[in-house]
This record gives sequence, C-alpha cells and structure tokens, in this order.
Amino acid sequence: MKDIKRELKSMNFSADQLETGFMLLDLAQKFAAEIEPMAGRFDQEGIRCENGQIILPSGMDEIIQKLGESGILGTFIPEQYGGGGMPYTFYAVTIEIIAAACPCIAVAMAVHGTAIDSIVELGAPEARQKYLPKLARGEMLGAIAFTEPNAGSDVGNCKMAADLDGDHYLLNGVKQFITNGGKADIYIVLAATDRAKGKKGLSAFVVERKAPGFGIGKVEEKLGIHASPTTELVLENCLVPKENLLGMPGKGLSYVLRGLTGGRIEIAAQAVGIAKAAYQKALKYSQERVQFDQPISNFQAIQFKLADMVVGITAARKMYLGAAYLKDQGEDFLLASSMAKLFASEMAKQVADEALQIHGGYGYIREYGVERHYRDARITTIYEGTSEIQRVIISREILARD
Ligand SMILES: Cc1cc2nc3c(=O)[nH]c(=O)nc-3n(C[C@H](O)[C@H](O)[C@H](O)COP(=O)(O)OP(=O)(O)OC[C@H]3O[C@@H](n4cnc5c(N)ncnc54)[C@H](O)[C@@H]3O)c2cc1C
Repeated sequence: MKDIKRELKSMNFSADQLETGFMLLDLAQKFAAEIEPMAGRFDQEGIRCENGQIILPSGMDEIIQKLGESGILGTFIPEQYGGGGMPYTFYAVTIEIIAAACPCIAVAMAVHGTAIDSIVELGAPEARQKYLPKLARGEMLGAIAFTEPNAGSDVGNCKMAADLDGDHYLLNGVKQFITNGGKADIYIVLAATDRAKGKKGLSAFVVERKAPGFGIGKVEEKLGIHASPTTELVLENCLVPKENLLGMPGKGLSYVLRGLTGGRIEIAAQAVGIAKAAYQKALKYSQERVQFDQPISNFQAIQFKLADMVVGITAARKMYLGAAYLKDQGEDFLLASSMAKLFASEMAKQVADEALQIHGGYGYIREYGVERHYRDARITTIYEGTSEIQRVIISREILARD
C-alpha cells in the first residue's frame, strides 16, 4: 500500500483528493483483509444457478453490498448523482487491492465501473438520475454485454436487433460470456437499430434485468474466476425504454470501444492485484521452504524469479496508473490503456506461473492456494480485448502517430 500511495502522491492530485482517496484505499484494504481468507472457499464453491437465479458463494453478496455502502462502488460517480466525485484513478486502485484478495469481486467491480462510465458519459438525464445513485450505493450492480457467439474480438459483427416500437425498443438476440450475468441489475448492451448499415447501424442501451423479455441462458463453467458468473443473456422482445438509448443511434460501436478502453485499465489493475497476491505467497514460501539445508530463497534461481516479479508488478502498476490519470485529465488514453492491459495481463500470467514454480509440487496442489492465482490470471489476457487485439490497437496507434 505504501508503494501505491507514493505513486499517487507523485501525480497531480489535489490534497483533498489524496486525503479522500487514501481513505478509500484504506477501506478497500480492510475489505481485502476480510475477503482474503474466504477467497479459496469462493473458488471451490463457485456459482450455481437455481430456477434462473444466480447464486454466489455464501458471504459474497454481503461483501458486494458492503462495498456499495462504503462508497467504493461509486468512487468516480459525480457527487450530484450520489457518488464520491473522485478521480477514476482511485477506483482503479481499489480494484487492484480487492483483486489481490479475490479477483472475482474485482472483475465484478471492473464491469460495474465500465457500465457507470458509459452512463455518466452518454446517459440521457433520465437514465443518469434513475441509475447512477443506485449504482453508487451498490443497490444496483452494472455489467457490459457486447460479446455474441460470432462477435468476439470483432464486436461490431453484432447481430442482436433493436427495433423501435412506440416509446420502447424491442431487443432480440443472444449475448454470451457476460460477467455479472444474472446478478447485475443493468447491462450496457450493443444492438443493431439499423441492420442495413452494418457497424454504423449499431446503438448502445441500458437494459434492466427486470425488463420483460430479459433472461439468462447458459451459465459457463470456467478454468478460473469460479466465483464470477459468466452467462449468456437471452433477450426476446426485451422491452427497453427509448430514454435508455445511450448517446446517438448508430454510434454504439464507437461508444462500446471507448467503454472498453476504460475497462482495460480496470483489468490491468485486476491483473496487478492477482500478480501481487501470487508474488507475496511465493516470497513467503521461498523463505520458509528448506532444501539442501537452507531456505530456497538463498538460491539465485529463486531470487531472480522474485526480482522479475517485483519489476513486472511495479511497471504494470505505473502503466495502469498513467493510463487512468490521462483518462482523468480528459486526454487521449487509448494507447496507454491498451499498453497497460497488454503488459499487466501478460505479466500476471507469468508471475502466477513462476509463483507456482517456486512452490514446486506444492504449487500444483489446491491446498496451497497458489494454483488459484495461476488459473485466475489466465483470463486477463483474454477479456476486454485479447493480447493480440491490444497489439493490433497499439501498432495501429503508433503507426498513425509517428
Ligand atoms: C470469463 C469471461 C468473461 C467475459 N466477460 C465479458 C463481459 O462481461 N462482457 C462481454 O461483452 N464480453 C465478455 N467476455 C468476452 C471476451 O471479451 C471475449 O471472449 C474476447 O474479447 C475474445 O473474443 P472471442 O472469445 O470471440 O475470441 P475470438 O475473437 O474468436 O478470437 C480467437 C483468437 O483469435 C485472435 N484474433 C481475433 N481477431 C484477431 C485479429 N484481428 N488479429 C489477431 N488475432 C486475432 C484472438 O486474439 C484469439 O486469440 C468474457 C469472456 C470470458 C471468457
């Protein structure tokens, strides 16, 4: 935590922002300490679906509720809508802190943050009034629903239809792999309002879980982040009020890509949190495990792994903080966010792998908990744009600029 605060102090935040921000981070740290002993159980229990209801591991709903009551979930929502009115950067740091304890709660926070960001930036006044205060207090949870069976990296190949019918749009189609699916109260959904125009006929909406015609389909079983629901959304004549259209019709794809640019900072923060947890376990284990009559931390092969881990974590944190700061300043953060996401997620994958290696055979055994980080880290190079897609964005940006 000292490292993070030092980093934030070196940025150009006001004294008031730092004071309030540090209080939020201390609070997040307290939550992390409470969550950490339960994270292994959350992973083993996973999620269940009963009568179309998603059931989280016991204790998890209460934590999310407490995060809402604490104000953390509304960190960067403007004060006029009941939020903390704080820079987005502080929200990203709370995600890192929580991710070190439980990446499933952290990714719930990440997609909640991306949904909030879309409504703050693009929501009609009615939608802002209706949703932001509840999202700020955690009385509502947010999610983003862009991916479809044939629209993954190519998110613009979206087939979900949105047809205007009087005061409402009727949405029809399927989204898949949706984080917080069935748990979130509102979803930012991409759908085609003008199918003839292809990518230029896509629009973004706020869709409520309780809307008529909203359902969840398949609940995915996964390699890691077992306590994070990943589901299909099945919309059948799903009724969405006209005022839930975000921004302008036909601009949905650019809004979604913009939303993902912010979301990548949050996933980078999540990746740093996962890596930090894996590193801390490896450091401790290396000092306790004796082979050849000495702690294995005496061996240079192990020391160098630890050194590389710290370098990676420190660099990745600087990168996501830098991207978040640009976003807070209203500057272009596309390149910074893709670089942070690419670097942090690949780093987390490697750090978790080396942390497991330092544990030797014990690393492969569930009881020691380090294999969970290895499984959980793996998703960070995939969602919110794969590493390949980040390289596509980075190369396109640098070639256009230089
Ligand atoms: C656990 C989980 C949670 C998720 N949560 C959400 C969510 O909340 N909301 C949501 O909308 N989506 C979510 N997703 C979807 C996720 O964002 C997509 O899976 C991801 O963007 C990749 O899409 P895809 O799976 O269709 O892979 P594809 O796009 O089919 O990619 C397959 C492979 O081809 C590569 N590839 C594709 N295009 C190119 C290219 N142009 N150049 C180079 N390589 C390329 C990819 O990098 C990848 O290696 C989630 C996915 C998972 C697994």
